[in-house]
Amino acid sequence: MSVITFDTIQDARRRITDYVLKTPFVSSPALSHFCGVSVGMKLEHYQTTGSFKLRGATNAMLRLNQAERARGVVAASTGNHGRALSHAARALGSRATICMSRLVPENKVSEIRRLGADVRIIGCSQDDAQEEADRLAADDGLLMLPPFDHPDIIAGQATLGLDIVDAMPDVATVLVPLSGGGLAAGVAAAIKGVRPAAQIIGISIQRCAAMKASIDAGHPVKVDEVPSLADSLGGGIGLDNELTFAMCQALLDDVVLLTESEIATGIRHAYNEEREILEGAGAVGIAALLAGKIAGLREPIALVLSGRNIDMDLHCRIVSGETNPLRNAI
Ligand SMILES: *Cc1c(COP(=O)(O)O)cnc(C)c1O
Repeated sequence: MSVITFDTIQDARRRITDYVLKTPFVSSPALSHFCGVSVGMKLEHYQTTGSFKLRGATNAMLRLNQAERARGVVAASTGNHGRALSHAARALGSRATICMSRLVPENKVSEIRRLGADVRIIGCSQDDAQEEADRLAADDGLLMLPPFDHPDIIAGQATLGLDIVDAMPDVATVLVPLSGGGLAAGVAAAIKGVRPAAQIIGISIQRCAAMKASIDAGHPVKVDEVPSLADSLGGGIGLDNELTFAMCQALLDDVVLLTESEIATGIRHAYNEEREILEGAGAVGIAALLAGKIAGLREPIALVLSGRNIDMDLHCRIVSGETNPLRNAI
């Protein structure tokens, strides 16, 4: 854990500043009214490539030397890391190979192709995609930049935490989408570096909550991967997890799990009340508040709206209230 110090995070912020957008932070009158406490939202779904993943990918790419960039980079991804890495690689004269499972939505795959990356679709889980990425790193000499368990990726995602404290200096509670934990570990390290008393709560999906199961077990465990409206939150944390498991274990105050219908409610609220288009993972903070799943709210609360790369037909079905939108989508 000590590899990601507060200085590392500030260095990352300086490093990536010319390559990423400074996304808005706004208050939500609707959620503040609903919860009876002050709620602000970091609109990180406006980030270039549609998710926060550009922060970590850019930081990691900028930390490579010319020879390393010339080799090309490889990663397994649920979509958004692949898109961010493809964008960052192209911006820095490198080339990305992105391995994804068949669970990754087509709209995400096609955006990655559009960025000129070499795309490999393999297997039915993030683990299958990771195996292919490992093979390409070993056989073809590509440099692995994984989606979360890497110090430069975590430090990049952590810069989002610095933005939140700048926008809301007295922040007491932060709700962060949680899958592999790069975002939550980074944001928690950044915010607790400034406000040690702030509570950081990870939000995952009930269907496959690998980090929650691992924290409960006291070591990384494997969970089955199944389709979810929050597809960016699928996948395991890696049985050989080196950084994010220990950081999340130490820095997260709680982990909350959501059902599919709660996630759909979050997406609908974002659209109807906040006028924002979010993918499932981006809406879980809103969803957790609306579901009343955050106990003992200390205000003010900050939510991370982490991404918007949802298939628009699926979004349309969700906001029009279809009861099982995913069954028709996959
Ligand atoms: C990757 C991703 C997450 C989860 O981030 P982790 O670092 O894997 O925990 C949340 N939301 C979106 C939109 C993502 O792309």
